[in-house]
Amino acid sequence: MRAFRMFDWGAAPSHEEVPVPEPGAGQVLVRVAGCGLCRSDLTMQQMPRPVGEKLGWQMPFTLGHETAGRLDDGSPVALVATASCGRCRLCVRGLESVCPHGLTGRGYGRDGGLAEYVLADRRSVLPLGDLDPRHAGPLTDAGATAYHAVRRALPRIVPGGTTVVIGAGGLGAFAVQFLRVLTATTVIAVDPAETRRAYAESVGAHQVLSGLELLPRRLGADAVLDFVGADQTIAAGIAAVRPGGAYGLIGSAGGRLDRPWFGTLPRDGEVFTFQGSTIADAQEVIALAAAGLVRNQVEEFPFEKVEEAYERLATGTLTGRAVIVL
Ligand SMILES: [Zn+2]
Ligand SMILES: [Zn+2]
Repeated sequence: MRAFRMFDWGAAPSHEEVPVPEPGAGQVLVRVAGCGLCRSDLTMQQMPRPVGEKLGWQMPFTLGHETAGRLDDGSPVALVATASCGRCRLCVRGLESVCPHGLTGRGYGRDGGLAEYVLADRRSVLPLGDLDPRHAGPLTDAGATAYHAVRRALPRIVPGGTTVVIGAGGLGAFAVQFLRVLTATTVIAVDPAETRRAYAESVGAHQVLSGLELLPRRLGADAVLDFVGADQTIAAGIAAVRPGGAYGLIGSAGGRLDRPWFGTLPRDGEVFTFQGSTIADAQEVIALAAAGLVRNQVEEFPFEKVEEAYERLATGTLTGRAVIVL
C-alpha cells in the first residue's frame, strides 16, 4: 500500500510502498478514507535531531494523526488522535491527554493515517454515524483540542461576559463554535488574516479584530484562549483577562511569560496549558458535528498532492483544514 512517511529527523518525508499491516490482539485494521494535516506534523519534520531523538521514536513511520476511515464491515469511524495507555491511574479517570505513555502515537512515532490502511486499538475507534469519514479526521485533533480548551475555561465563563479567541485558524475557528454552542459569552476572535476573520464571523464570532491592540482597554474577559502562543499574544492575552478569569495557552509559537509575580497573572484566576485532548473530547466533538451544531471546513487534496498540501499549511494559505482523501 502507499504511505507517506518520515525517514529521518530534519529530512523531508516522502511516499513509500509498505505492506498492509496485520492487526494484533485488540487491534482493528481501518481502511483510511481521509486524513487531516496538522501543524505539529511540520514541527516534527523540522525538528533538529538532538531534540527529536529524545522522543525515542523508531524511524521510519507513517505521518498523519487526524484519521478517519472504514472498518472491514464498511462502518465509518474516526480514530482518537491522542495516544494513551488506557490502564494507568490517569487514563482510568478519563485524563488521556496527560497519560505518561502518550508521547508516541499514531502518526507521531508510530504508523499513522497517511496510508491506505492503519491499525487502531479498539478503544481509540469512535463511530461516525452519518458523518463523512473523508472529512471527519480533523474533528479528532483540531476539533477535540479546541474543545478541550473551551471545556477547561468553561467554569470561568459566566453570562454577560466576553471570551477572546486569539488565532482563528483550524483550532480557533472550532473554539468559536464550541463557545457559541456551550455558552452565552460574547466571542471576540482576533486574527490578522481577512479570510480567517470572515470564517470566524460566519461560524458565530460576535466581533472580529485584526490585531490585539484593537481589544477594548480594560476588557476584563472571562477567558482568553490563545491559539498562537507568541510573546505578544501571551502578554496581551493575559492582560485582557479579568481577576478570576482564565487564560489558556494552546498555540506553540514558543512565546515567553515574563515576571509572573508582578501583577501579570489574573488575580485568583487560572493560567493553563496543554497538548492534545481526551477520548471524551473527541467523542463529544463528533456528536456535535453529527448534530449539525459545528462546521468542519476542509480543503481536499489527493494523496499525490500531500507535499503541496503541507506547503499550503506552512504558508497559511488554506481555507480550511487540509485533508488528504484516499
Ligand atoms: Zn495535531
Ligand atoms: Zn494512561
